[in-house]
Amino acid sequence: MIYLDHAATTPVLPAALEAAWPYLTGEFGNASSTHELGARASTALEDARARVAAFIGARPTEVTFTSGGTEGDNLGVIGLALANPRGKHIVSAKTEHEAVIESIAFLERVHGFEVTWVPVARDGSIDPSAVATALRHDTALVTLMLANNEIGTIHPVAHFAELAHGVGALFHTDAVQAIGWMPVNVGDLGVDALSFSGHKMGAPKGVGAYYLRSGVAVEPLLHGGGQEFDVRSGTENVAWAVALATAAGALEPQVEPESTRALRDAFITKVLATVPRAALTGPTGDMRSPAIASFVFAGISGEAVLLQLEEHGVVVSSGSACAAGRDDPSHVLLACGYAPELAQTSVRFSLSHHTTAEELERATEALRASVEAVSSLGR
Ligand code: PLP
Repeated sequence: MIYLDHAATTPVLPAALEAAWPYLTGEFGNASSTHELGARASTALEDARARVAAFIGARPTEVTFTSGGTEGDNLGVIGLALANPRGKHIVSAKTEHEAVIESIAFLERVHGFEVTWVPVARDGSIDPSAVATALRHDTALVTLMLANNEIGTIHPVAHFAELAHGVGALFHTDAVQAIGWMPVNVGDLGVDALSFSGHKMGAPKGVGAYYLRSGVAVEPLLHGGGQEFDVRSGTENVAWAVALATAAGALEPQVEPESTRALRDAFITKVLATVPRAALTGPTGDMRSPAIASFVFAGISGEAVLLQLEEHGVVVSSGSACAAGRDDPSHVLLACGYAPELAQTSVRFSLSHHTTAEELERATEALRASVEAVSSLGR
């Protein structure tokens, strides 16, 4: 099998699992317990927190372990907006992940917030002047992602954060697809909150981290024993926190993925030259995540191409894996101005740091054969 669906999830790094194992077995203590077993769990948790904090340029007290990207995005949107007395207005874009879009919908529905969706260009980019125009005297929060999960568009988040701060609004970014593919430093980005997910970077599913700049208030989503600096109650998942820190440590030398970028570009060029109907979605060059190559195929079914590809041993996604199982047009492509029929044909290839030229060569050939087969069936 050629797995080109790393934006959906990654395999767990053996080193991450090995590091976590003791905390699932002998060292099973509750980090809040006062006895020795608990103290050792607490030490491991704080060590993991320090390593994750260092990874994103934060202080340990600014990092909360979560259950993943969805929880981090909910905290980043709902938690920040409810705690900011400035007003009930949010600025975001319809290309965001559902975890952000649905958190905003919740705030509209239950708490009477208003939202301004900034316009998005065909390649997923957002003009900073559109963000500036959307800001109001009562804007509590601006939330815009670092790298898009479907079409790979990278946003100038530092610039967006500066604009938000210019009017006194807070800024959150979803960095789930950026981690490991570009430097993610909260100081350089100037964000108030940032969320990311373990299972996109070699840690298990069900763990993530949430950065909250010191001094910024957040309304917790989970209420209880006050763990994780009162941001996130619940007994801490020490083993998965250790796994996340280990996976982050393994990524550090790879933050300038020039070789993956070159592989991606060669793959895109070859697909566009040899696969009938293929058209690239998202931007080209440096404004695109090195890991993502995404296409549409006018006039045929994206799902049918996916099934054919799987028969050829190539595993990929149509748009967002989180919305998989539904044959809806990609909400990201709709937001970029694609017609629903075309937005329904999206296929995303997402690479790892270990993807090889040979795998991509075989994937191109499989894609060509798949598109031809689906076209000839008239689907
Ligand atoms: N944000 C983005 C950009 C994602 O790609 C994903 C998952 O696909 C999420 C958030 C949700 O993360 P998790 O699966 O850890 O809840």
